[in-house]
Amino acid sequence: MKILASSSDNRIDEIGVEFEKYHIQLSEQRYNQTSGLDYDKSVMEAASNSLVDLSTLFLTQYTEPRSFYLHCLAAISQARKLPITLELYEKRTKTLSSDTFKIHGKPVNWGSWRQFNAAEPEDNNRKQLFDEFIQKAPGIAPLITKRFNISRQVYQLYESSPLDAYLEREFLTYNKLKDFVNILGDGARKSFLVAADHFAPEILGKESFDYHDDFYLARGRIYSPLNKHFTKKNPQKSIEKVVSNLGFREELHKIKVDNEDREKKSPSAFCFGVQIPNDVRVVYKRVSPFSDFTSLYHEYGHGIHGASGKEDDPFWKRYIVPMSVAETFSIFLEMLLQQPLYLQNELGLNEDVVQEILDRRHFMNLYFLVFYAANALMKIEYWKKGYSYEEASKRFQELTKRYFWEVPGDYWLTHHITPNYDVYAPSYMLASVRVKEWMNQMIDEFGEEFWRGDAAKQVGAVIRDLATARGEFDLSVWDMDPQPYLKEQSELSFL
Ligand SMILES: [Zn+2]
Repeated sequence: MKILASSSDNRIDEIGVEFEKYHIQLSEQRYNQTSGLDYDKSVMEAASNSLVDLSTLFLTQYTEPRSFYLHCLAAISQARKLPITLELYEKRTKTLSSDTFKIHGKPVNWGSWRQFNAAEPEDNNRKQLFDEFIQKAPGIAPLITKRFNISRQVYQLYESSPLDAYLEREFLTYNKLKDFVNILGDGARKSFLVAADHFAPEILGKESFDYHDDFYLARGRIYSPLNKHFTKKNPQKSIEKVVSNLGFREELHKIKVDNEDREKKSPSAFCFGVQIPNDVRVVYKRVSPFSDFTSLYHEYGHGIHGASGKEDDPFWKRYIVPMSVAETFSIFLEMLLQQPLYLQNELGLNEDVVQEILDRRHFMNLYFLVFYAANALMKIEYWKKGYSYEEASKRFQELTKRYFWEVPGDYWLTHHITPNYDVYAPSYMLASVRVKEWMNQMIDEFGEEFWRGDAAKQVGAVIRDLATARGEFDLSVWDMDPQPYLKEQSELSFL
């Protein structure tokens, strides 16, 4: 039967309206869960089941819009995985729980590992805990494998795979993404290793980094000397000023900020677009003065992106956004914190402090590149080559050795992104490179201090254009040349 274009459009919009209803129910519960409030598993299950029905209906009748089609595959796979996802959520903190070390009177577990690392002065204790968790990590591998197998099966039914869908959404081929990740990982390696040796005595109290000194340990310690310059500053006020200057005052009213300190609240900040564009929630708890700045700037980027959606746009356009696009707005605002003139003139910091910030931010960005290169490449090969978990661990270990230093392969099981998401890891790398290109354009066109005055209004208009595009963000217009981003991060005053 031939369906008239206009009537099928209407029908797709109607499915979208239903989709949105269950999406809201599900994200409210996920928001509660992540922010340490009571959440209702039965609501999550019921909403997920309704999304499966709607997705199946869509998939049997339509192939366009393509993003909606692929989103249906993701929705079915996510719903089928839900029971195991919830089981993993609980089992992870129980399995990865220390027999030896405590924090605030309780055994250190997966959730408090980073807090422990940031505070524990003894290298040997941190090493022991790392070894203990690596030894226990295979205990959660069956659940992680089960989840990925479900994804694989769901996509297979529709002759696709999680990786194919990801590549299509990101406008990439397998080889292009592989080369991109490699160039960044290999390109960052040399400067990273020099910088790591430079900072090791200060942040680790020893000559050099070892396998157990992971990215999050470094991140939890590297910014300590900067904190004294930020204790009296209010990150929320600063970022809201930027966002207002850029012309997003109205959007600001739609962003709810939750900064309460609840015990079960996730230690990393996040943003939920519960209803786009009218209910966007930024959630954080205070961790340390400088990192509160970077995380809030980041999450406000997600916030204005969500609040910029057009109310009248159909569901698929408002909600279904490629992952690297979602990270583009957040990383754009976060990158202000490594613009020397912003730090000097807006945050009132002197040149020496600015240099300290740049060196430390660049070092962490280099660590991010080498570490995420290993995660990203392992993960895309995982789908392409059909790895078992053991093969994945073996490959991850090889890749860490290639990009920085050899880390026990099972470490990836303890990460908060790589074992949780089908792909995701390359998205931050893609977004960072895009943001560098974008920021250079803004500086060329509107001057160095584009966050204030008339320039801010013009830059704000560009941001608004890209942000309101949501699911129709044009990925084809970006060069995606990794070099400018790599070059900037490799600038270190002590080299
Ligand atoms: Zn983000």
